[in-house]
Amino acid sequence: MPVRAFAAQSATSPLAPFTINRREPLATDVAIDILYCGVCHTDIHFARNEWGFSQYPIVPGHEILGRVTRVGAKVTKFKPGDLAAVGCMVDSCRACPSCQRGLEQFCHKGSTFTYNGEDKHSGGLTYGGYSQSIVCDEAFTLKVPTNLNPAAAAPLLCAGITTYSPLRHWNVTKGQKVGVVGLGGLGHMGVKFARAFGAHTVLFTTSPAKADDAKRLGADEVVISRDADALAKHASSFDFILDTVSADHDLNAYLALLKLDATMVLVGAPANPQPISAFSLFMPRRHLAGSLIGGVAETQEMLDFCGAHNIACDIELIRMDQINHAYERMLRSDVKYRFVIDMASLKG
Ligand code: NAP
Ligand code: ZN
Ligand code: ZN
Repeated sequence: MPVRAFAAQSATSPLAPFTINRREPLATDVAIDILYCGVCHTDIHFARNEWGFSQYPIVPGHEILGRVTRVGAKVTKFKPGDLAAVGCMVDSCRACPSCQRGLEQFCHKGSTFTYNGEDKHSGGLTYGGYSQSIVCDEAFTLKVPTNLNPAAAAPLLCAGITTYSPLRHWNVTKGQKVGVVGLGGLGHMGVKFARAFGAHTVLFTTSPAKADDAKRLGADEVVISRDADALAKHASSFDFILDTVSADHDLNAYLALLKLDATMVLVGAPANPQPISAFSLFMPRRHLAGSLIGGVAETQEMLDFCGAHNIACDIELIRMDQINHAYERMLRSDVKYRFVIDMASLKG
């Protein structure tokens, strides 16, 4: 089925209209008309081949929310008319030890990512949510709480789960002092979740103008990270720090803020390696770790948590043809706090 989309054809070409093909739904597939798709910084990294493994054309978008139009004969979780969502993955082997633990993002055979992955059905590339519709196996399709604004819920599928998962895995809880570095799409959800889990939440930002918003979003304190004295006041005091920064920055400055045995987790993915001094890690003993999105079951748990606690993203709704401008604004750290594409604007 031909479907309108927006694609990057090379690392230097802007995104532009492109037609893709979606398969007819198979027995366990759900066909979804996309209503909204969030714009993740990963979309920029891929569109511009910043990580070096992009394959073109790329149709980005992995924060997909829409309405079910058709279901295959064996589908049990969805029916036409339901809201449904697709995140960063559309499949995995489902049998390896990681898949069996619900950690499909670490599938030993390689999970199938929503875009720029190998499409098991067509043999070509997977294409993401900057498009009118998608067809996805129900095992990788998520239920959306109906009390949330659907446009503001879409970015939960990546920004939400990518921050929820490490905060849960490292047991962030009441009474802890938790830092979130960077107030963009991921960072603003990190602040909301850290606060919801009861932590004393400190936001580190390079953008002084975001301080009031950070407090409104749930930060107890805001530290301007370019101010070395302001950072020094927090030396060796944090239980946990979540780093969401997309560009080069000094990790050592944040490691210095961890207490004994505390952990800093990287979810931001700058294209370049970031230097780390061994002294940052052993004076006192500290941990540096990473985290990648979250498994399907945990993504559903996160969505249900957001429904129960009325948590969604702060968004700026844009038309599909505003995407290149939105990328430029994100690169200037100027998004409040997630762009979401209104897919009705693609119908033409
Ligand atoms: P975003 O909305 O563009 O936010 C990034 C934020 O980082 C900016 O708002 C800015 O916050 C801060 N920042 C940007 N440049 C900086 C610099 N030079 N120095 C210090 N701070 C800077 O991006 P996002 O969508 O949240 O994604 C963030 C990163 O996470 C990207 O690299 C993305 O690829 C990665 N990611 C990883 C996963 C995963 O599973 N691990 C999942 C999704 C995304 P302030 O203005 O507050 O300083
Ligand atoms: Zn993402
Ligand atoms: Zn697997």
